[in-house]
Amino acid sequence: MAPSTESESRKLLGRLRDTMAEDAAGQARLDKITHLTADSMGSEVCSIYLFRDPVTLELCASQGLNAEAVHQTRMKLGEGLVGRVAKSGKLVNTANAPAERGFRYMPETGEEIYSSFLGIPIQRLGEKLGVLVVQSKEAREFSEDEVYALEVVAMVLAEMAELGAFVGEGAALKKRHTQAVLFRGATGQEGTAMGQAWLHEPRVVVTNLVTDDPETERKRLQDAVDQLRVSVDELVAGASGDQDQVDVLEAYRMFANSKGWLKRMEEDIDLGLSAEAAVEKEQSQARARMAQVTDGYLRERLHDLDDLSNRLLRILTGQGKETGAQMPDNPILIARNIGPGELLEYGRSLKGVVLEEGSVGSHAAIVARALAIPLVIHAERVTNEALNGDLVLVDGDQGIVHLRPDDTVVSAFRDKMAMQAKAMERYSVLRDKPCITADNRHVHLHMNAGLMADLPSLESSGAEGVGLFRTELQFLVRNQMPRRMELASLYARVLDAAQDKRVVFRTLDIGSDKVLPYMKPQEEPNPALGWRAIRVALDRPGVMRMQLQALFRAANGRPLSIMFPFIAQYEEYARARAEVDTVMAREKRLGHAVPSKLEIGCMLETPSLAFASDRFFREVEFLSIGGNDLKQFFFAADRENERVRRRYDSLNTSFLTFLENIVKRCEATGTALSFCGEDAGRPVEALCLAAIGIRTLSMRPASIGPVKALLMRYSLTEVRDVIEEAKLRGEQSVRQAVMEYLRDSS
Ligand code: PEP
Ligand code: MG
Repeated sequence: MAPSTESESRKLLGRLRDTMAEDAAGQARLDKITHLTADSMGSEVCSIYLFRDPVTLELCASQGLNAEAVHQTRMKLGEGLVGRVAKSGKLVNTANAPAERGFRYMPETGEEIYSSFLGIPIQRLGEKLGVLVVQSKEAREFSEDEVYALEVVAMVLAEMAELGAFVGEGAALKKRHTQAVLFRGATGQEGTAMGQAWLHEPRVVVTNLVTDDPETERKRLQDAVDQLRVSVDELVAGASGDQDQVDVLEAYRMFANSKGWLKRMEEDIDLGLSAEAAVEKEQSQARARMAQVTDGYLRERLHDLDDLSNRLLRILTGQGKETGAQMPDNPILIARNIGPGELLEYGRSLKGVVLEEGSVGSHAAIVARALAIPLVIHAERVTNEALNGDLVLVDGDQGIVHLRPDDTVVSAFRDKMAMQAKAMERYSVLRDKPCITADNRHVHLHMNAGLMADLPSLESSGAEGVGLFRTELQFLVRNQMPRRMELASLYARVLDAAQDKRVVFRTLDIGSDKVLPYMKPQEEPNPALGWRAIRVALDRPGVMRMQLQALFRAANGRPLSIMFPFIAQYEEYARARAEVDTVMAREKRLGHAVPSKLEIGCMLETPSLAFASDRFFREVEFLSIGGNDLKQFFFAADRENERVRRRYDSLNTSFLTFLENIVKRCEATGTALSFCGEDAGRPVEALCLAAIGIRTLSMRPASIGPVKALLMRYSLTEVRDVIEEAKLRGEQSVRQAVMEYLRDSS
């Protein structure tokens, strides 16, 4: 008697619910479930296999197979039919199991007499938990209805496992969310942090999985979907002109109105699932598909469906974002992804951030960098694993996250953090000392900033000034273009906080990876080589003019330094400078104070600018090498592509020779030169840059101490000799030679 009828299926699910309610051990529940399922399916065998570790499945309960095989029979992921189901996440339904590809006979189970086999993955929100199997002697394929019914059972099992219904002895029945897990992601922002998990999107817990009253559940689902549609319509109506956002919301609307989606959920309800369990079943299946889809666009759409399912679950369960949980004292934010505005709202209260997605150049990463919060990206599935309050160690340097680590890991991590803290103490002694090298050269150390919140670091780091103030953050975190007066007051506060230290404001550097939420994104084949920074500013001068006016007003008669990003040829600089002259003339006309001293500089981020005419070098007041971009164009290696971004050493002799030529040209024309890419904040790189003649370096505030400590110990003349000798020997990079020199002379 297969549960091909809805009432049969509901009866089975009702019994499963009863086993959940009974006060029984996990093993007893599993045994009962296999018995009930085999009975309901009319098959001789029903077995449940669960993972005991990420690659090994264990037979945990069986009706029909030899009892001695339970907890003895194990197979690797991909091994045999059960392993195949687990690995692929896809069911296997066959009338003749022994003839099936990959079949492996397990003699201890006594399964040789069973011909037909139906294996269904037990998975929850993309996570593989095990396999549910039914087998029978009769050689027949299971019907579509039977398969569907068993899928529903597998879903309920997954939820029961999540709720801790099968906890018992042995590794396969261990309690979930209690084990140590290591996530290997990528560095978004360096630094280490220890704290407690805080989920950005609290997990929705579904406790009522099964229903006897499909009518009511259908109605609940329909009402929730109606509510969802209204809220999506409101979102679409309120969307800004940003095409990307509109596209996402339109995709939401499409899913919300999708008859197929609703129909599948209604069918799940008819088979006995509650409305929320039906939503979660479809969500789990979408996640499983997501894992197999490589097409970026399709993945995005599946993500949209996932978001929508979460919204629907919140409506149905009434579990909003506010769960009443208290944010821990040392929160490590865990999220699939997060927008820059949301991250800024958390601000410095966060000790660390761990994202499943994200990229090095994403807005969230830019904000994390500005806030100096360690960030690990690409920590796959961390939102599924972590629970609020779990201990988390974030190693932003290595791109590693330890969730619920054991004591030995914690103590090693503590040692590492203590060593870093000690080093910081040593650096603080140097804070007010100028950075004078052993051969008596002064290297000027400035800091990079992008937020008002960065300015206190000017004092605490001992920076001589702000060598790069990235102005794009104020544009990125808003939903609309900031107004001139808003910007003027922010820039004025920055100048006030800096007192008489110099602040170099870089005009808006958008495009490429930095797309403003309220500007129409451009479909560009190579955004890094596309319409970005000064190119946008010159083609649409309104924003740059507004920003220049804001800077003039903020300076209000004080000295002002302005820098243009991404200048590739003289004419771009000349046109940008002409804009400044126009604004200056207008300010004078309007009777506003003009800066007591005005310096105009350019970022040198494209190799072409290094070969610009002497006229350019003489006219421009200062140049700052944007090593992040310059290096990516020099080596033709995308700074955001994990595969290539670390491939070429910044101490590569070709690159250093190229930088030396820029130094020579600046010396010959009397142009002030600095370096403000990430390499300026890496002590050994900073030492080499200073040795080849770049005497002003701008970096993250936290890097000033370590850089100063190293530079003060060594002679730039000697380092330069080491570099020259390595070049003469034809070495590809001077790193090894410099490291040996540092070791030998310490
Ligand atoms: C650079 O390119 O080195 C730089 C400092 O600018 P950004 O990192 O903001 O592109
Ligand atoms: Mg740049």
